[in-house]
Amino acid sequence: MLTLNWGSATDVGRVRNQNEDSLWASESLFLVADGMGGHAAGEVASGLAATEIGRIAESSPLHAEDITIAIWRANEAILRAGHERGDRFGLGTTVTGVAVVSAEGDDQWAVFNVGDSRVYRFTEGQLSQVTVDHSEVQELVTAGHLRPEEARFHPRRNVVTRSLGSDPPPIADLWVLRPRAGDRFLVCSDGLTGELEDAEIEQLLAEFSDPQEAADALVRAANAAGGHDNVTAIVVDLVGPDPIV
Ligand code: CA
Repeated sequence: MLTLNWGSATDVGRVRNQNEDSLWASESLFLVADGMGGHAAGEVASGLAATEIGRIAESSPLHAEDITIAIWRANEAILRAGHERGDRFGLGTTVTGVAVVSAEGDDQWAVFNVGDSRVYRFTEGQLSQVTVDHSEVQELVTAGHLRPEEARFHPRRNVVTRSLGSDPPPIADLWVLRPRAGDRFLVCSDGLTGELEDAEIEQLLAEFSDPQEAADALVRAANAAGGHDNVTAIVVDLVGPDPIV
């Protein structure tokens, strides 16, 4: 079993009145959900995603399929809550995260994503983005119509193309990755990546070896840069045993 150490931080930011981000961080599962919709709908949607998917953390070992099923179940719960509120078209959330799963007889990472929250991997001082945003601007970047550095300031940067609370249910992206010694993952909402460039995130992850201090520093930096949105960061470290590569 992989031994992990982690820290998390979330903040309303400096502009919004409510924090509609939710997170789950436990033994084997770490996720961030960024809710959307008026009248506190975002908070309800992201909270449902965190608890519905988070409850599978109790099962051991976890498999990648468990995550896919849990995302589907969370989608159903959000749709149901929307029907009950009568404002179903406003109720939605992103969800992204990393979990330890059993695959091919080994403990491996499973990274999952719906929407434009992100998972990054930080190994040997290098930051790389694992997830691919489900957003209009990402589609423009992929098609070559927009440069990645322009995407952060594009007027439609907040438009997601996949989210939970959709009918038909969204297809979640899933990556199964082999652990490497010294692995560190960052799970975050766009309140972080909207304020900080990847190079700034990389620098803070290198500077703070303690995961809680790193998460706090990232949230602090996002607020110092403007704090235009709710901001959430989870930092997960693999502390042992060193995997055989
Ligand atoms: Ca957000």
